[in-house]
Amino acid sequence: MKSFEKTNRPPSIDALLKNGIIRQLSDRYGRNEVATTIRGNLDAWRQKYYGGDLSNFSFEKLIKDVKENLEADGRFSLKSVFNLSGIVLHTNLGRALLPPSAISTIVKVASSPTNLEYDLDTGGRGDRDDHIESLICELTGAEAATVVNNNAAALMLTLNSLALGKEVPLSRGELVEIGGSFRIPEIIVRSGCTLREVGSTNRTHLHDYQNAINHQTAVLMKVYTSNYEIRGYVSEVATSDLAHLAQENNLPLVVDLGSGNLINMADYGLPYEPLVIDAIGAGADAVTFSCDKLLGGPQAGIIIGKKPLIQKIKENPMKRALRVDKMTIAGLYEVLLLYKNPDKLRELLPTLRLLTREIEELEELAFTIVDSIGKVLEGFAETSVVNVDSQIGSGSLPLERLPSKAISITTTNDILLRKIASAFRRLPQPVIGRIHDGSLLFDMRTLEDKEGFLSQLGQLDLTEITG
Ligand SMILES: *Cc1c(COP(=O)(O)O)cnc(C)c1O
Repeated sequence: MKSFEKTNRPPSIDALLKNGIIRQLSDRYGRNEVATTIRGNLDAWRQKYYGGDLSNFSFEKLIKDVKENLEADGRFSLKSVFNLSGIVLHTNLGRALLPPSAISTIVKVASSPTNLEYDLDTGGRGDRDDHIESLICELTGAEAATVVNNNAAALMLTLNSLALGKEVPLSRGELVEIGGSFRIPEIIVRSGCTLREVGSTNRTHLHDYQNAINHQTAVLMKVYTSNYEIRGYVSEVATSDLAHLAQENNLPLVVDLGSGNLINMADYGLPYEPLVIDAIGAGADAVTFSCDKLLGGPQAGIIIGKKPLIQKIKENPMKRALRVDKMTIAGLYEVLLLYKNPDKLRELLPTLRLLTREIEELEELAFTIVDSIGKVLEGFAETSVVNVDSQIGSGSLPLERLPSKAISITTTNDILLRKIASAFRRLPQPVIGRIHDGSLLFDMRTLEDKEGFLSQLGQLDLTEITG
């Protein structure tokens, strides 16, 4: 390759592809992609050359640029971001963060064969739920459990297993839309069941369910309305009363709890959310809940309940389509294990740690970084530390707010503010804030990597604003 240095004329692609570093890059990114990147870079050199700039072509510079282009952070579109949105469990930002114990166990099972569905005693086939079922039962008081892809899947599988082709009565006050295209009424229909609406939006009574029960009824159902609240002249039937009615009619009661809460949040100074154990205690026969909401685990859904029902659910051929992989089982196991020691939970479970951070800590954090942000935005925006309210997110306790501190960025006009927000989103590790009342807010509740945040501020690209 020395020969290139003697000439000021850019070499051919074929010559470059023989270079050692380029060959390594080809192994990782594929020859075609590497060739395309080289071509792009060579074109720039050639333009210079034929444009009359005959200063020496730099082989080293070209290789360096090609390598940088290929390794640029933006290559894989899924990347780490700073969630400073003020929503701790942000569905669009991937919900819960996993604890280190979960991550290391995930890495372990991902990088070697495992006894995922293999019984080490008999040498025969095993059940992947066996690795986690007894721990779930211990923490929830349930007889049996199974794990699927998410709570939506848990609900579909439960209804499809227990009520296919049959009627499912549900209160008109519980026809929830979770977000995106997930609506309980549609899930019931897509699960192969017929929705039988009972009661009214604000009031549903036990006799409404009683009147709806007929020979076509397969289950009774209750959906926890996690993301909204109806206030005023309202009435709903308690889980225990519904369980009683279900039992009298020899029907199972299915409860969709949404957020699976294994501990009393009030013990940690947070608003109360219904507990999984209480739903079981009230007599629910099957309960479904999410693993990446308040539980703080990986994306998954848990179905717990009476043994024969869970058995039936496990035997549904759809279970295979909805099952979780070994990494999810490993991560979920480690997260659930933390719940056996509630005294340490706040320290070890990222979701709970973020939800319970003290306001003093958040204020101190805000004051240590506000000037650095102010400096990079000097001349464009004013920065200050303000009081804000964080939200739990993922539909949990939508009306409850957690007092927090934020960096507030204000400008003379909205277009400028949006350009600043966009510049923060274009950083190597994008920073996601929220615009509220004419300010761009960076909520400190979810900022843990202060050094990482500060270290990339210098790269904020404001040319769109200045240019
Ligand atoms: C969030 C939620 C779901 C869906 O759970 P995913 O884990 O997001 O699939 C279903 N039902 C209720 C009541 C919920 O709050």
